[in-house]
Amino acid sequence: MIIKKQCLQTLLMWLIFPVALNAQQPLDSLLPVRGFCIAAPSVKDVDRFVKFIDEELAPRKVNTLILRVDYNYQYTSHPELADSGALSKNDVQKIVSVCKKNHISLMPQVNLLGHQSWANRTAKLLSVYPQFDETPKVMMPEKYEWPNPDNFYCKSYCPLHPDVHKIVFDVVDEICDVFQSTAFHAGMDEVFYLGETQCPRCGGKDKAELFANEVRSIDEHLTEKGRNLWIWGDRLIDGKTTGLGMWEASYNNTYRAIDMIPKDVVICDWHYERADKTPVYFAMKGLNVITCPWNKPEIAVMQTNDMVNFRKTASKEMQPHFYGMMQTVWSGAGNFLDAFYGKKAGGNGSDQTDWRCFVEMYNVINNL
Ligand SMILES: [Zn+2]
Repeated sequence: MIIKKQCLQTLLMWLIFPVALNAQQPLDSLLPVRGFCIAAPSVKDVDRFVKFIDEELAPRKVNTLILRVDYNYQYTSHPELADSGALSKNDVQKIVSVCKKNHISLMPQVNLLGHQSWANRTAKLLSVYPQFDETPKVMMPEKYEWPNPDNFYCKSYCPLHPDVHKIVFDVVDEICDVFQSTAFHAGMDEVFYLGETQCPRCGGKDKAELFANEVRSIDEHLTEKGRNLWIWGDRLIDGKTTGLGMWEASYNNTYRAIDMIPKDVVICDWHYERADKTPVYFAMKGLNVITCPWNKPEIAVMQTNDMVNFRKTASKEMQPHFYGMMQTVWSGAGNFLDAFYGKKAGGNGSDQTDWRCFVEMYNVINNL
């Protein structure tokens, strides 16, 4: 009798909540990675960011959260590299806990190789260790403008400097430990300064090999610790032939590195203006790929449908390489939360904002 009653209850559950009971498994197979990438919050925004994870990311079935930390953490291995007012271990612990509770895998990003400065501000690594600068003769401008005679976008560190990896790997290990993460995002996008003629170590070397060797060094280090490497994909695409240009693809001859990097690297393939079919290119090279939109909801929806279709129609060899989708946010976390919760208008009242893109893309994902 008791067994019969339990059977009846189960049957009723299936009849009443068929979607709820079935939802997770099919969504995981349709779109295994459902990501969100944003700058790590400042200390004052940690609590409301935790609330946002709990009340907005988790119910939308986001399962991967990447926080761009860089030097916004009180590193104990290298306190000299911590930004002023950086996050404490306790701050990060709050984020780790809410992610664990909601089965969201949390991953830190620290920009390696490129993006060692922004506009007229040098980031911590090169301001503390200027000897790692790939282009020490390029002076930081008082007011940043693009274009400029130095073709200066962001500083890079020299990947062949004998002391650079010891320091950045300490930072990577510490932030991955505190995040309790099994993966790490190394950035590596928009690297314009690489293999510069003036660099006594890199000058004259093949830029694709320099880039690939740096990816391999980081990947090997992470693999030793049981962790996986994620990077942005732009340096691996030929900008001229594809017409994708020098930002979201490479004009500085790094693209041949696509055939030289380890196959376990996860490529975050960002395209904000069109639904380019580049994920197919990465998957055909045996690389794992995630499509990353930003602020155009209609493009993100198209890209989501593409990703689902790629998975449905691919060969069994390529299918597992199509990992999923990830919303990217390039404002600070505080600004994003203000716009999301309507505290201030984002994007001048336009529909083309990161938060609308996030909402609309996840509407589509949750209706798959
Ligand atoms: Zn160099």
